[in-house]
Amino acid sequence: MSVREFVVLGTASQVPTRHRNHNGYLLRWDGEGILFDPGEGTQRQMLRAGVAAHDLNRICVTHFHGDHSLGLAGVIQRINLDRVPHPVTAHYPASGQRFFDRLRYATAYRETVRIAEEPVSGEGAVLAETPAYRLEARLLSHPVESYGYRIVEPDARRMLPAALAAHGIAGPDVGRLQKEGVLRGVTLPEVSEVRAGQRVAFVMDTRMCEGVTALAEGCDLLVIESTFLDEDVRLATDHGHLTAGQAARVAARAGVRHLVLTHFSQRYADPAEFERQARAAGYEGELTVARDLDRVPVPRRR
Ligand SMILES: [Zn+2]
Repeated sequence: MSVREFVVLGTASQVPTRHRNHNGYLLRWDGEGILFDPGEGTQRQMLRAGVAAHDLNRICVTHFHGDHSLGLAGVIQRINLDRVPHPVTAHYPASGQRFFDRLRYATAYRETVRIAEEPVSGEGAVLAETPAYRLEARLLSHPVESYGYRIVEPDARRMLPAALAAHGIAGPDVGRLQKEGVLRGVTLPEVSEVRAGQRVAFVMDTRMCEGVTALAEGCDLLVIESTFLDEDVRLATDHGHLTAGQAARVAARAGVRHLVLTHFSQRYADPAEFERQARAAGYEGELTVARDLDRVPVPRRR
């Protein structure tokens, strides 16, 4: 069974609290690990969450504010210390190359692993295509350049046993039909249906913008910042952030199945209020107000 789950390493915005580490999130996707926004302390949170440096294949940084990137120095050195046997690819805003360079070489250490630098620029792009997923980035709206990321599994076809039986297709003929698209006059669409690929989006620091909507569209799992509560919407917009209600409205319109809210301002004492406001905004799917070390499975296929 391939594992697809989202591991929460930290959930604080700006400053860590007694209960919340700076940001850090790992998406496990069929044996690959994608680390998002390693803030300070990510290396230790990985240990607490059972995530090894060997688990990391990619690192995606949304933007170069400290709470989303100061952990790069430690994580990159740990990857090298542990002699991770595969290359690790790093994606980040190209405009922050100088920050990435400094973090990558913050102190002396022995480089043993190839870290491939693949920065993002412009409106965004398709960053990678593997058999298991396509990785996309979209420009967001924040005082410094910020990109959200999305993992999209390619659509596939699910064979329908009853339809196959009705046409007398069995055994190796099934594979032949899948490969050639037609067998003895029977076409693939007659005996199969489209199995929509799964989608997970990661949307950090941004005010409402087109990029948010585009990334969220049709996602099985949407991880999104909700730094503020709705009463502070002015503050949110001024500083380039979202409120719980704004994030939930996007999720509701986009048909998101599981919404994960995170990146909370330390000014709020009661996390349950984020859930109340998300529900009041009309979001009816599964909802997690993230806590450090939460594990959120990608919802089962429809
Ligand atoms: Zn932040």
